[in-house]
Amino acid sequence: MITLATALNETTQRLQKTSDSARLDAELLLCHSLGLSRTQLFTRDDETLSASSLENCEQLIQRREQGEPLAYIIGIREFWSMELSVNQHTLIPRPETELLVKLALQHIDQEPAFHIADLGTGSGAIALAIAKERNNSHIDACDISTDALAIAKHNARKHDITNVAFQHSDWFKSLQQKQYELIVSNPPYVAPNDIHLQQGDVRFEPATALSAANDGYADLYTIAEHAISHLKPGGHLLLEHGFEQQEKLMAQLRALGYSQINAHNDYAQKPRAVSAQWIN
Ligand code: GLN
Repeated sequence: MITLATALNETTQRLQKTSDSARLDAELLLCHSLGLSRTQLFTRDDETLSASSLENCEQLIQRREQGEPLAYIIGIREFWSMELSVNQHTLIPRPETELLVKLALQHIDQEPAFHIADLGTGSGAIALAIAKERNNSHIDACDISTDALAIAKHNARKHDITNVAFQHSDWFKSLQQKQYELIVSNPPYVAPNDIHLQQGDVRFEPATALSAANDGYADLYTIAEHAISHLKPGGHLLLEHGFEQQEKLMAQLRALGYSQINAHNDYAQKPRAVSAQWIN
């Protein structure tokens, strides 16, 4: 017979080889597998586990040991204090991407209603966070992956968010002549030969959401170029990028004729986003 406390300690030890957040991973895996809240996990830690519960936990622990991201195993990741469903068709939302939400909110007035596009929405993280904070705005959230859009729509329903319209689109292609006060995107920007793609959680994430040609700049540049015809005069573009890409991206925005080009650091003080305005 094994108690919850013992299961938690043993799982933590096993996961130390794979994860640098082994204790938290163990807690979340056990909670998910046993249908317990974290409070219940701690207050009922002297209860024993049945053979079938142990078997369920074991399967999840083995998946984590094989390197699968915790978020995919339990099917959720928190972003902007919202619990979002994720799966192998969506990138796992990163804490640093909350910077894009923060910047977007600084640009959005409640009146008149803003029209916003989120390109490559994935799980819907950015669009839904903005929509939740600015319920008077209208957001078009696009993705080339219908599988990702299904998850994003599910997340909108889960959080009762009704001011986001989901659209199947390869960047701007299906948006026709639509124009926006604000365009945001966290596109794939990792260089295809970056060794990080072979390490840790990213190995399980969709390659199309992570890496882009031209040293990772291809999609950033495509969006920057085509955003021009989709921004209302004075509208803003916000792009997340890799921490070494800021200078080149800013130079490209300058060359394309954007104004008010500003650099932004993420919570770890790494260069992570640029904002730019389209004046005429
Ligand atoms: N920041 C992510 C990573 O380095 C990449 C996300 C992206 O390409 N948009 O793993």
